[in-house]
Amino acid sequence: MDPSLTHRILILGGTTEARELAGRLAGRGDLSVTLSLAGRTVNPADQPVPVRSGGFGGVEGLAGYLAKEEIDLLIDATHPYAVRISANAAAAAALSKVGIVALRRPPWERVEGDRWTQATGGAEAAAALGATPRRVFLALGRQEIGPFEAAPQHAYVIRSVDPIEPPPAALRATYILARGPFAEADEKALLIDHRIDAVVAKNSGGPATYGKIAAARDLGIEVILFRRPVPAQAGTVETVDDAVAALDHRLAGASDRGV
Ligand code: NAP
Repeated sequence: MDPSLTHRILILGGTTEARELAGRLAGRGDLSVTLSLAGRTVNPADQPVPVRSGGFGGVEGLAGYLAKEEIDLLIDATHPYAVRISANAAAAAALSKVGIVALRRPPWERVEGDRWTQATGGAEAAAALGATPRRVFLALGRQEIGPFEAAPQHAYVIRSVDPIEPPPAALRATYILARGPFAEADEKALLIDHRIDAVVAKNSGGPATYGKIAAARDLGIEVILFRRPVPAQAGTVETVDDAVAALDHRLAGASDRGV
């Protein structure tokens, strides 16, 4: 295909959906796709398209990248709790007049039997655990553990992709290194083996990390869930299929305008 007819796509990733979307677009001759990772994970999962890694340097850095790489369409497929990069993506796209599609999994909805408490961030979640010592499973990222140092009366099980270095000195904790997806049966075994009576997690949505929510429901265990940081914006799509459709729609519109 004539390279001038190839549309250049940048996917901001770090999620299962971003990898799936990249896989869907990888074989298309009309697209040249790059996937961007923050570069925090030591051994990131393999990706089906070329990867660039590390921050861009804020809105202006990202806008500069979009211009230099002549990106035609930006797809923000970052995690629903990655608010800074999403805000930067929206601002950089507006600044550069590059189209943007946001792909966000919808949050999990409460079903009968769930014992959920909603919290806005770590400090509120730590307080919601209460004064009485409990056995708590923290299914959070490395940067989100700090506020639990204010609640040292509890015993924690902390699961993360990379080691938490240095481990918070004030916390009595067992560390587990693991990368999802996590099956419900395994999550149930973990909750039982560690005699967990509270789970703290983000409302990430999607099936890959839902196992702990279903297992907690089954065992009657309380789940303290971080509220979604920002409500879904207009124009956001929820599935990889819809992201592909939105991309095709945008690119067809751009071609019609002779862009
Ligand atoms: P964040 O707080 O929204 O972003 C912090 C900074 O990291 C951004 O300003 C940007 O630096 C850089 N960055 C983030 N995502 C990037 C990407 N895909 N490509 C290039 N630079 C990126 O992000 P976060 O919550 O730390 O998440 C970091 C990454 O982990 C994201 O890719 C996200 O999808 C993934 N992730 C996050 C969570 C979560 O719970 N937050 C869970 C699973 C996966 P510059 O300003 O220098 O450009």
